[in-house]
Amino acid sequence: MNYKAPRGTHDIFGINALGMSLLEQKSKEIFKKYGFEEIRTPIFEDASLFMRSIGHATDIAEKEMYVFEDRKGRKLALRPEGTASLARAFIEHRMDISNPAGKFFYSGEMFRYERPQAGRYRQFHQIGAEYYGNSSPAADAEVIVLAQDLLAAVGIDKINVYINSLGCERCRPFFRKTLIKYFSSAQDLCNDCVRRLENNPLRLLDCKIDADKFIEAPQMADYLCDDCKENFNLVKSLLKSVDCVYTVDGKLARGLDYYTRTVFEIRSDSTSSQDALAAGGRYDNLVKELGGYNTPAVGFALGSERATLAAQSAGLFNNFKEPEKIFIAIADQELFNEAFAFAVKTRNGLSFNKDISVFGPINGKNLTNQLKFADKIQASKTIVFAKTEFENGKVLIKNMKDKTQTEVAISKS
Ligand code: AMP
Repeated sequence: MNYKAPRGTHDIFGINALGMSLLEQKSKEIFKKYGFEEIRTPIFEDASLFMRSIGHATDIAEKEMYVFEDRKGRKLALRPEGTASLARAFIEHRMDISNPAGKFFYSGEMFRYERPQAGRYRQFHQIGAEYYGNSSPAADAEVIVLAQDLLAAVGIDKINVYINSLGCERCRPFFRKTLIKYFSSAQDLCNDCVRRLENNPLRLLDCKIDADKFIEAPQMADYLCDDCKENFNLVKSLLKSVDCVYTVDGKLARGLDYYTRTVFEIRSDSTSSQDALAAGGRYDNLVKELGGYNTPAVGFALGSERATLAAQSAGLFNNFKEPEKIFIAIADQELFNEAFAFAVKTRNGLSFNKDISVFGPINGKNLTNQLKFADKIQASKTIVFAKTEFENGKVLIKNMKDKTQTEVAISKS
């Protein structure tokens, strides 16, 4: 049987692995500047944590979660996103008391049983941040600018930022009712819209299938209470003050139940895909709903696969140079140990940021075949250990391009 990676999963290697590592590395540098600390949570959690936080009537909870029972019959789920896990950890370690203004970031695999297509996988990676304890619109704006900075750090600067306010527990219920009434009279709704109408009517607003039917649909902006309106205006003015260009999208609803007030999405301006690169928003009630102290919070997650792809189309690796490769060969088998020790010493002596990789030696091959191997891996130089030269404290350095050869003294200590 020929094994293949399970449907919707993918192996990340070569330039894609390099791109993703670079994204993770740069994001750590940026998180540090903003004062976000790393937190790593388990890949699986109690399934009910996600049901409760994300909401029962959401795509994720209804059909996308990988739920399983362990040997003791505990119902667990592979994490579909990071916010719920972080909120659970925040409460479990009583950071709602000790560190109520905590700023945390995470990075890792997420799992959703979605229909696989370009930029949409069943196992994918997210880099995300959560900012607890700050209800100020400045925290919303900070998180949006942070997400934008992460993308810019890997060269993605052609982006569009979309924002909206979903209101609060005071103004949203009335908007929900208005929406249910409005949508109830709509004809021929798609199956998803019919299903969501009662439980999650906001989601109908960003339905891709029925979008044309909802052009005239009521918009949350017209139903915001005074506090929410003022709050949203402040977010907008803060974004303007740092020249962050945004578009207010009255139909932006986001899929999850926990959002309150500001929500946002960042989409690429240069690829045809309308899929978001990053998305997030404020969720002021989640910590309390999960049993913690009332702690407002705002956060976002960025899709690492999508961001890596966008970074590559933006030219991240246009000037990329592979490390120089040096191969260590032996003309006489009895010098294998000396050559091996030399290779180890050379690697250890390379300074951390030196772009050089050392290969070899390999035994059981004659010198011609070793040189063929060196050509195959595109080594720039081969260092040959030969008996006569070695006895005189020297090795041969062969330039693999022009095939010239020089003798160089080595220290045997
Ligand atoms: P969400 O957690 O749904 O708000 O998604 C945040 C970001 O994660 C999105 O903007 C995407 O970039 C990425 N993302 C979400 N779902 C997937 C998926 N199935 N495959 C790849 N990336 C995804």
